[in-house]
Amino acid sequence: MTLSPNWIICEHCDSLYESVPLAKGQTSQCSRCGAVLERARNLNVQQLLALSITAALLFVFANAFPVIGISLEGLSNEATLWQSVEALAQGRISLIAAVTGLAIILAPGLQILLLCWVLGFANIGRAAPGFKACMRALEHLRPWSMLEVCLLGILVAIVKLAGMLDVHPGLGLWSLSMLTVLIILISGKGIRRLWDDLEGRY
Ligand SMILES: [Zn+2]
Repeated sequence: MTLSPNWIICEHCDSLYESVPLAKGQTSQCSRCGAVLERARNLNVQQLLALSITAALLFVFANAFPVIGISLEGLSNEATLWQSVEALAQGRISLIAAVTGLAIILAPGLQILLLCWVLGFANIGRAAPGFKACMRALEHLRPWSMLEVCLLGILVAIVKLAGMLDVHPGLGLWSLSMLTVLIILISGKGIRRLWDDLEGRY
C-alpha cells in the first residue's frame, strides 16, 4: 500500500484521513474521536524564527537571573535554576538532579538551539545541514522538555512558602513563564510543516 503524502493519521485513534487545505483560523477534526487533526498555519517561518530567537534570549535570562528569592528577618537568599539543580546534586538524590537538569535546562536549551538552526535555514529557503536528524531530535526532545512542570512547581512553592517567609518571584521566573508559552507555540505542530515546506531539499 502506498501512502499519499497528503494523508494524515489521527494521533488518538489511528483513523486515516486525506488532508484538506485550511483557511486561517480553521481546524480539521477527527470524525471518529473529535481530536484536532490539523490547524491552519497561523505563523510563517519568519515569525517562527523570530519567536525562536526571542526564546533563546529568554532562556539566557531564565538561567542567568534568580527565579525565586526568599528573605527572613533581614537575611535574604536567591536561587537560579542552575543553583537549584546543583543543590539537588549535593544531596543523596543526585539522580533526580540529573533528570531535573535534563528536563529544565539541557532539553529546552537544545530544543531552542535546534529550532534556531532549522528555522534559520528554512527562512532562506534551504534545509539546514543535518535537517532530518535535527527534526527527529526535536520530536524526541519534546517530552523531555518540562519547563511547564518546573514553572508550576515554582509557583506552588511560592504560594506555600508565602505564609511563612517573605517570598518574591525573581526576574528569571518572568522569563521562564514567557519562555514556556513560546516553546509550546513553536515546537508543536508549527515546526512539523517544515517537512512539507522543504520537501525534496533535504
Ligand atoms: Zn481520532
